[in-house]
Amino acid sequence: MMHKVTLIPGDGIGPEITEVAQECVEVTGVKIDWEIACAGKAAIKEYGTPLPESTIDSIKKNKVAWKGPITTPIGEGFRSVNVALRKELNLYTCLRPYKLYPGVRSRFSDVDIVVVRENTEDLYAGIEFELGDTDTKEFIEFIYRIKGEKIREDSAISIKPISISASRKIVKAAFEWALANNRKKVTCIHKANIMKFTDGLFLASAREVAHSYEGKIEFDDRLVDNMCMQLVQKPQIYDVLVLPNLYGDIVSDLCAGLVGGLGVAPGANIGDEYAVFEPTHGSAPRYQGMNKVNPAGMILSAVMMLQYLGERKAAGRLEIALAKVIKEGKKVTYDLKPSPDDPTAAGTREMGEAVIEELLK
Ligand code: NAD
Repeated sequence: MMHKVTLIPGDGIGPEITEVAQECVEVTGVKIDWEIACAGKAAIKEYGTPLPESTIDSIKKNKVAWKGPITTPIGEGFRSVNVALRKELNLYTCLRPYKLYPGVRSRFSDVDIVVVRENTEDLYAGIEFELGDTDTKEFIEFIYRIKGEKIREDSAISIKPISISASRKIVKAAFEWALANNRKKVTCIHKANIMKFTDGLFLASAREVAHSYEGKIEFDDRLVDNMCMQLVQKPQIYDVLVLPNLYGDIVSDLCAGLVGGLGVAPGANIGDEYAVFEPTHGSAPRYQGMNKVNPAGMILSAVMMLQYLGERKAAGRLEIALAKVIKEGKKVTYDLKPSPDDPTAAGTREMGEAVIEELLK
């Protein structure tokens, strides 16, 4: 069967990891008709916007996209294309598996955690009040009027909306993923002891959804601070984690650190209609064009995409081929070597080609 997929190479290191990872996917034999679309810096030059309508239309038509990272300038220029895509396509689930592959240096030996992060609300909803704005002053007065709480006048404010509907949806997504992938336990992460209304609602929704999976998947919950400590002490006892947006973002990077860093971490943003697969890491602009960075995150995001497309066998072959290259430790990039300046480190292309060689054996 021929699949149609929108391919967005991104910017920074995006195009170089995408190129070699795409060759890996093609060697699996899965037939994909790629529709190349532009986003980020490259799109600004050609379309005057970092996220052209034609790119969104392409994803809406094909339903599945695979993308490289895209730079988000800090404090100026365009807002995050990644956030805009998630909003535009209602990609409410961010799914990130953190699996420790043999050969990767880590303090642990058996980490296999999946982070399921809510993608659309919480402090990342983007409702912010800037220091000194008239709106901000009015809002501070309004809070004082209705709550009797005095917020300092020299404050900026962000709003944290958490809804029952989005919380139920993300927890259900976590349980469904756990069921479909033979996992045993879902842990809800929150700070409901302090944020009783917002995180309290997230936890209550999680408990309610968990009832319908009783006897099939275990459920428990942890405070986010305690969870961070436990993850660096005994990550092997955790399975699937479900979190609101902000904690999900932070705990994701913590988990990436447990399994060898950002270079080997893939991700997927999934909604009811569309799915966008990408590595967890960003565009690492200082390494752009150097043939230096690890293509594994991009390759593993293709593994997730192939699973989503129903190509489980090809996905398994691609993952095993990459795992062999990592385990052997010869043709791997600098981040997987004992020291980052190891002269035997392979380039992005060489590591990708080693995966292709494994696939062809
Ligand atoms: P980054 O992930 O780009 O890089 C941080 C560091 O991680 C790098 O300096 C490098 O040491 C390491 N690293 C990242 N990818 C690697 C790889 N494939 N192989 C080996 N090492 C790797 O994070 P940043 O520097 O904070 O962000 C750079 C830009 O990327 C920012 O504009 C940010 O907004 C954007 N970003 C985009 C996405 C996305 O497109 N989904 C995600 C995160 C960050």
